[in-house]
Amino acid sequence: MIGVDGGKPARAPSLDALGSCLRKSARIGLIASVALLNLSATDAKGPAQVDQARMLAADSNPGEWMSGGRTFDEQRFSPLKQINDGNVGQLGLAWYADIDTERGMESSPIVVDGVLYNVQPWNIVTAFDAKTGRKLWTYDPQVPLKYGRMACCDIVSRGLAAWKGKIYVAALDGRLIALDAKTGKPVWSTLTVDDTDRSYTITGAPRVYEGKVIIGNGGAEQGVRGYVSAYNAESGKMLWRFFTVPGEPAKGFENKAMEMAAKTWSGQWWKPGGGGTVWDAVAYDPALHLLYVGVGNGSPWAQKFRSPDGGDNLFLASIVALDLDTGQYVWHYQTTPGEQWDYTATQQMILADLTIGGKPRKVLMQAPKNGFFYVLDRKTGELLSAQKFSPINWATGVDMKTGRPIENPAVRYGEVPVLVSPGAGGAHNWNPMAYSPVTRLVYIPVSETYMAYAAATSYDLDKHQGLGTSFSGYDAERKKIAEYADAHTKGWLSAWNPVTQKEVWRVAYPLNGSGGTLATAGNLVFQGTISASMAAYRADNGKKLWEMPAQNVPVAAPITYMVDGEQYVAVNAGWGGGLAHVERSKYTSLFLGKPRLLVYKIGGKAKLPPMPAASRIVPELQAPPKVTGTPEQIAKGEKLYGANCVLCHGVAARGGVKDLRHMSSATHGEFLDIVLGGKRAVNGMASFADTISKDDAEAIHQYVIARANADWEDSGK
Ligand code: CA
Repeated sequence: MIGVDGGKPARAPSLDALGSCLRKSARIGLIASVALLNLSATDAKGPAQVDQARMLAADSNPGEWMSGGRTFDEQRFSPLKQINDGNVGQLGLAWYADIDTERGMESSPIVVDGVLYNVQPWNIVTAFDAKTGRKLWTYDPQVPLKYGRMACCDIVSRGLAAWKGKIYVAALDGRLIALDAKTGKPVWSTLTVDDTDRSYTITGAPRVYEGKVIIGNGGAEQGVRGYVSAYNAESGKMLWRFFTVPGEPAKGFENKAMEMAAKTWSGQWWKPGGGGTVWDAVAYDPALHLLYVGVGNGSPWAQKFRSPDGGDNLFLASIVALDLDTGQYVWHYQTTPGEQWDYTATQQMILADLTIGGKPRKVLMQAPKNGFFYVLDRKTGELLSAQKFSPINWATGVDMKTGRPIENPAVRYGEVPVLVSPGAGGAHNWNPMAYSPVTRLVYIPVSETYMAYAAATSYDLDKHQGLGTSFSGYDAERKKIAEYADAHTKGWLSAWNPVTQKEVWRVAYPLNGSGGTLATAGNLVFQGTISASMAAYRADNGKKLWEMPAQNVPVAAPITYMVDGEQYVAVNAGWGGGLAHVERSKYTSLFLGKPRLLVYKIGGKAKLPPMPAASRIVPELQAPPKVTGTPEQIAKGEKLYGANCVLCHGVAARGGVKDLRHMSSATHGEFLDIVLGGKRAVNGMASFADTISKDDAEAIHQYVIARANADWEDSGK
């Protein structure tokens, strides 16, 4: 049992010399009948016998969920219909597993041959009997706890991959690890990060195509150069790497694509790295032999520091198509030229065949953070259509002649804060969407968000710390923007017709932050809700057919599978991630129990234990300690807080993964032990002793105390 007991982690024993134990696994002979392989795979070759032929035939084997989005096209649609719009009301809990973490669960499990593989924070992998929930094995890669502070948006992991008897996990510290699917023992481990002094972290799920493991990384909030790489699934040997932004021109370019991209940059962007991380979505078309890569935001955010003369800054916020064999550039489409609002195009890409204007088209669809739903021809990259799926103010539309957004000039911020929509959380973030080829609708978890953006007065290219933006000063402007944002922020489930580019139905939620979606041939859409429940809707009209309390918010996307002729729906319920970090204080209505893996079936009779009494995630504000710091010390603390703490603990210390305004007197007493001594590193709060001094930490402490007092006074208590 992997657990956190009284703050002490009970982690699996450390594993050594992973890189050296390369194993040549026996070649699997070609089996003509895929159905035959399904029946015999587990017995003959051991579990998780996934290969190209089996993935291509996934629709004739719909009881499995063998890859992140089930199939290569990432539709997150299941042909299973034993659970359907007629009987979903009888859905009950089949089994559940507690997950020992205080952090977010963003992963969808995979299921192969009756075994469910799941991953949780710190990249701990567990295999379960998919029918009974019995634990088969657990593997802990022992990620060094210092990585807890390098990930911008929680120490999450979004999933696993399976190929020829191995399970692949990408660890937060940059390792790609292949596990023996039968035992959970590592077969090989490769460090995918080329500069360990930078804040590279991996939260995305690996994918395997034609025996190549594809993996990117994150870190663009703290100065990195983005890339995606391919590894041999058998040996762990790197096959190719594609950088998403150019390096320093004086050192020469890796390829023609980098030479082309460099013409769209100015200044010394290579010092902070430029960003453009491939931190989540990839997709693959086996017929076209193309790999599609979603590219993230600029680093730093403020363009004036990273590329002072402006420019498009390729390939930030772009969808890039690469040759799977070589990693060579084929085409790109940039959603947000000169990106500076954290408008990543890393969100899920769905491949489908649609009839548009009477013509059959092979398309790629994406609903990235910037609020436009894009339909591209996936062979050529031609933009077929783009429409807003949420109210936004950064652009009024997309010019179909040039493919470029018609930008609102007011959003290119200076030092005075401006209201921009969507905010950095996006109109749609990593939470997966699903496409049903039956209803021909895309089911998107949508948010309407707003944020105050302002440039910092300076940014040190060599230190590359912070975002080049400011979260303090101009209090009156910020207050006005915050009030507008509070009044207008919303969340809903949208059923989107990608051909007409119109919403067909929606389910409104009381707050934004509901989970990813799953569509099935049973005319159902499943989604975890911000009301801490699981729900099922009719896929054609959105009518709610079933809802059950989950004691937590399943932000991840559900999956479905079949074992011994019975269909199951599984979801990880564990609130966390970027939204929970930044806007926690807004969710006063949330009462959450333990994070769990929840598995449902028709007539399921399992029951969750009662919720603990102290389950409110935003505690009542208590009287804080008296302010003892000087105004100078508090002002210094505010600056340091903005540079070091804001990503995890929220703007103005409101909210965050832990709301510092609510620290207990015991925590106040341990403040330096936590910030400098790493006392809570296992919870993700790593030591900052290498970047800030004791004086700095005390100044931050005084600033937080001052903030708590200000809000305590405002509360009128
Ligand atoms: Ca980002």
